[in-house]
Amino acid sequence: MLTITTIASGSKGNAYHISDGQTSLLLETGMPFKAVQKALNFDLQNVVGCLITHEHNDHAKYTKQFLDAAVDCYMSAGTAEALNIEHHRMHTIRNKTPIHIGTWTIIPFDVQHDVNEPFGYLIQSKDGDKLLFATDTYYIKYRFKGLTHLMIECNYAQSVLDSNLETNKIHRFLYKRVMKSHFSLENLLKFFEANDLSKVEEIHLLHLSDNNSNEKLMYEEVAMATGKRVLIAK
Ligand SMILES: [Zn+2]
Ligand SMILES: [Zn+2]
Repeated sequence: MLTITTIASGSKGNAYHISDGQTSLLLETGMPFKAVQKALNFDLQNVVGCLITHEHNDHAKYTKQFLDAAVDCYMSAGTAEALNIEHHRMHTIRNKTPIHIGTWTIIPFDVQHDVNEPFGYLIQSKDGDKLLFATDTYYIKYRFKGLTHLMIECNYAQSVLDSNLETNKIHRFLYKRVMKSHFSLENLLKFFEANDLSKVEEIHLLHLSDNNSNEKLMYEEVAMATGKRVLIAK
């Protein structure tokens, strides 16, 4: 059984933990390692590595702390270059090339964000669970079959973003940037429609914007459109 723990989600920092009962993975290094240890009750002995999606601080600021704590960190070459850390536990992985870590098989895939070579991850356990982890991308060009769990960004709702622009709560520059770098509720619903969700057990909505989201609306729209168990990561 796949267990997903959100330690933090959003622009202030991202860190997640997933376990299949045998080995576990950390996702992102956007929180201090001590905070991650504490959130997991110092139960990290089964951790076999950490996957990082891209170099932004809210996802990768504390990478050095994780490496120094003997956690192997995996990321694209572009992310590694941007982080500019030399460490024997830094591993660069290639787009669409599967890797095996502990009991997991992981396939990185390219996503659409304003950085060099950001990745999403398709994460499979030995028990047949299939998790899609994708954040900080305004769009996903791939289709997936047989997913059982989703951890996916739902950053903003277009209606909320538009009304923030009208009332000058957001600059036009940032307004445009959000639309070309983050997943909207509307695009997410299209993504759900285009993918086979028949085996999905849980949908975790990640990285909700403080100002441009509406938790209740997002929960209701996704639950209604998919008929699945929906959890808001925070
Ligand atoms: Zn982010
Ligand atoms: Zn980002």
